[in-house]
Amino acid sequence: MGKETCPHVVIFPLPLQGPVKCMLKLAEMLSLAGIRVTFINSHHVHRRLPDAAAYFSKYPDFRFQTLPDGLPDDNPRTGDQILNLLKSMEAVSLPVFRQILSSGSPAATCLIADGVFIFAASVAADVGVPLLYFDTISPCGLWGLLSLPNLIQSGEVPFTDEELDEVVAGTDGVMRRRDLPSFCRIKDMNDPIIQLVIEEANHIPLAQGLIFNTFHHLEAPILSQMLTICPNIYSVGPLHAHLKARLVGAESAITSDSIWEEDKSCISWLDKQPSKSVIYVSIGSLAVMTRDQLYEIWHGLVDSGSKFLWARRPGSVSGPKDDDDVVPSDLSQGTKERGCVVGWAPQEEVLAHPSVGGFLTHSGWNSTLESVVAGKPMICWPFHADQQVNSRYVGEVWRLGLDMKDSCDRTVVAEMVREVMGSRKDEFSDRACEMAKLAEMSVNPGGSSFLDFDRLIEDIKMMKI
Ligand code: UDP
Repeated sequence: MGKETCPHVVIFPLPLQGPVKCMLKLAEMLSLAGIRVTFINSHHVHRRLPDAAAYFSKYPDFRFQTLPDGLPDDNPRTGDQILNLLKSMEAVSLPVFRQILSSGSPAATCLIADGVFIFAASVAADVGVPLLYFDTISPCGLWGLLSLPNLIQSGEVPFTDEELDEVVAGTDGVMRRRDLPSFCRIKDMNDPIIQLVIEEANHIPLAQGLIFNTFHHLEAPILSQMLTICPNIYSVGPLHAHLKARLVGAESAITSDSIWEEDKSCISWLDKQPSKSVIYVSIGSLAVMTRDQLYEIWHGLVDSGSKFLWARRPGSVSGPKDDDDVVPSDLSQGTKERGCVVGWAPQEEVLAHPSVGGFLTHSGWNSTLESVVAGKPMICWPFHADQQVNSRYVGEVWRLGLDMKDSCDRTVVAEMVREVMGSRKDEFSDRACEMAKLAEMSVNPGGSSFLDFDRLIEDIKMMKI
């Protein structure tokens, strides 16, 4: 394809670790397919991306453009700050984004924006650029969000704390109210988050298509329901595995897309542990636990008798920081004998490691898919957004592990770790291996995600005309 006919895609993720990492994989796959890419990043995230320059040196038609996100540098940008981030982006980033989209050289063929950017629809329409929304959360979680107007209308939401275990009508008994996206627990329907979700539900159908980081086999029923909202869906995940499959025979992927420095010392620790003996623990890049929860999880891990590798991100425990390094005396022996604690782990590598037998996770969508691809059973301890839905699907629909939702008690933690790593190890491992095979098939030539990505490329090329 000549340079003048090469389509130019502008990609605009929500500037946080999870969405940026996921969209960088998509950007690299588009680059491999000969598409020119402009990737819009916030100054804050871009400064921390160790391998930013590598994208351009590997793909000369790859560009980063950066913009301010409007938040002060020391804002933690944790899960509870999302609304502030979106508000400040709408005020501060939007004009710069409009400028980038309208002044592309060559002109932008299409915009791929995070589904949470409601403003992207009107900017794309003004500039005359087709819009594809990419929701980096799970489709099952997004379906819960998009259903919010109906759930309010049918009286399912809001609900009281006493009604958390009531089954949501029309979900075949799968979803209890506690399994709906976390926002559904808000009591005031005028709350800005509720209003944001309703607006997002109204905007999603304005896009020409929806891209998902999932694979058909995992979420087929939800994907068919999504088609009623948007008839053009591309399920191209799991993206980290898909990128690897596309790179077979080519140079290796750009691996450092983490905005925190990875502590690889845990890999040599894992190398010394027996097969499937270690439970890996992480709550991702945004969630924050209380100090009480920290100690409940810690006691549970030590009491379970299992080996554990814990990625304990600085800032992931609320309260004063000065005692973060102090190990309580009753936990010190068990931690020394069986534990390894790092600040930020090379998670994909950790999950793929043969010594890891399970994952205690906050059920973020990237983490869930990384565990699915690695064939590792999960214990789910969800915090925000789609995580409540993901954990229910892991426990009840896919049967890949246990859902520890809404409880953080040392006895429960220890029991669940013993179940997943011991008494029900084979059952969960078999299911997880089966699902991992299906994930792999979907991203290999002829698989559903492989074909959907090819269709995406063809459709982008058609937009050029
Ligand atoms: N991650 C990592 N090292 C860690 C913890 C997390 O590399 O110690 C990565 C993980 O591989 C995943 C991302 O951070 O790709 C977290 O994304 P997810 O959607 O699971 O959760 P979020 O951070 O958005 O809540």
